[in-house]
Amino acid sequence: MPTFDITVIGAGPGGYVAAFRAAQLGFKTALIEKNKTLGGTCLNIGCIPSKALLHSTEQYHFAQKSAAKHGIVIGKLSFDLETMLARKDEVVKQLVGGVDFLVKKRGITRYEGVGKVVAPGKISVTLNDGKTEEIESKHIILATGSVPAELPNLPLDGEQVVTSTEALDFKEVPKRLLVIGGGAIGLELGSVWARLGSTVTVVEFLPRIAVGVDPDVSTALQRSLTAQGFTFHLDTGVQSLAKKNGVVIATAKTKDGKEITIEADKVLVSVGRKPYLAGAVDESLGLKLTQRGQVEVDAHYVTNIPGLYAIGDIISGPMLAHKAEDEGVAVVERIAGKAGHVNYDAIPAVIYTEPEVASVGLGEAAAKEQGIAVKIGKFNFKANGRAIAADHTDGYVKIIADAKNDRLLGAQIIGSNASELLAEIVSVLEFGGSAEDIARTTHSHPTLSESIKEAALAVDKRALHSA
Ligand code: FAD
Repeated sequence: MPTFDITVIGAGPGGYVAAFRAAQLGFKTALIEKNKTLGGTCLNIGCIPSKALLHSTEQYHFAQKSAAKHGIVIGKLSFDLETMLARKDEVVKQLVGGVDFLVKKRGITRYEGVGKVVAPGKISVTLNDGKTEEIESKHIILATGSVPAELPNLPLDGEQVVTSTEALDFKEVPKRLLVIGGGAIGLELGSVWARLGSTVTVVEFLPRIAVGVDPDVSTALQRSLTAQGFTFHLDTGVQSLAKKNGVVIATAKTKDGKEITIEADKVLVSVGRKPYLAGAVDESLGLKLTQRGQVEVDAHYVTNIPGLYAIGDIISGPMLAHKAEDEGVAVVERIAGKAGHVNYDAIPAVIYTEPEVASVGLGEAAAKEQGIAVKIGKFNFKANGRAIAADHTDGYVKIIADAKNDRLLGAQIIGSNASELLAEIVSVLEFGGSAEDIARTTHSHPTLSESIKEAALAVDKRALHSA
């Protein structure tokens, strides 16, 4: 029977990174993945294809809405959806191929099939060619990820009522797209299709979209998206979906009991994701789960079964690729007796709309809820030279510092390139720095990042380039 030091089940960003780190540290490593391609949700049907389409449609949107302002004359503008989707598929192919190459290069044994832990240290793999193989492994890491959550009253049909997977691959632009759920995935895919001409309506059960950030930031995002043609129904729940003459008719109810109907050609149900375990651990082993169906682990990712660990979307915490990756490194380093660690107070999160919304650490509202007195510094991109030059003045940087000692608690940025800009703040947060540290750091001129310095100065009411 093949025997390994570490075997990882699931080759998403959590699992393949764990396998890479294990191989780097000299462990005899195996990686089991049921899909043909490696990379999991993120590379195949998540982060990467969505960003490829967001990028393509942003270029189109620029050509359509802004190029003329720059003196760029474009004749008759059109797009070819087939080419756009093919490019997205190529991007995915390149990246999953890269993971495959590194798996081979690092000497990791790959099994193509479904892995099931049948006893501590024992896995049965049902290979995709129908055969079964038993393997032994001193340590087993579960990284089986997540799948879209569904609502019982809104059954999916894979054609008109769909998840993000199908919405990444519509073969024609839906005239009317209804997005159920105003989180990152719904807003990003809504943006893709809105830019290509869909009339997008978002229905959100909560009183605001993008609930992970402060209300002022989500309001600013809603305003920008509304200006791009989105319609929002907040505090509203979709009750049912019916089909008539090829059109989906959604019946929704507002918080105060008003009933509305929305007609759509496609409906994207993006109401969150749920952990996916589907038989990866034999029931007889009694794997402990949380009330929300996540695998219960301790601070070192150890489950209640000896030698079994879990990371990524199947455990608690934000369902994000970089969180899964860092857990993949941390768990292997712990197994190796090193000090692997993830700082859950400094995990960035981004919504890749235009403007982007990027946040890390405590928001103003969350800090206040915890009884922490805060100082806030804000700086608008409207007053930033580079933003004006690039015509990207929508949005602002908001820095949240502890009122007692100026220590940086978190930041939220709404604006172009917010995802890249945030990295500076994440580093300062990780080093336990203060707003003053950022304020005294020289930033290149002219860059959008000067707005971060100005927001840090604004914490102490001394921003230089705003009134
Ligand atoms: P997954 O990536 O879900 O991988 C799990 C893997 O395990 C899968 O390949 C699955 O086939 C395999 N598997 C499951 N069970 C078994 C088994 N028994 N045997 C063998 N294999 C098995 N996150 C970001 O950080 N940034 C983004 O921009 C972003 N955009 C997203 C956009 C969309 C549309 C979606 C859907 C998600 C997005 N995410 C994003 C979330 C991100 O994709 C996930 O957080 C991330 O993929 C989780 O990684 P993971 O390794 O835990 O699991």
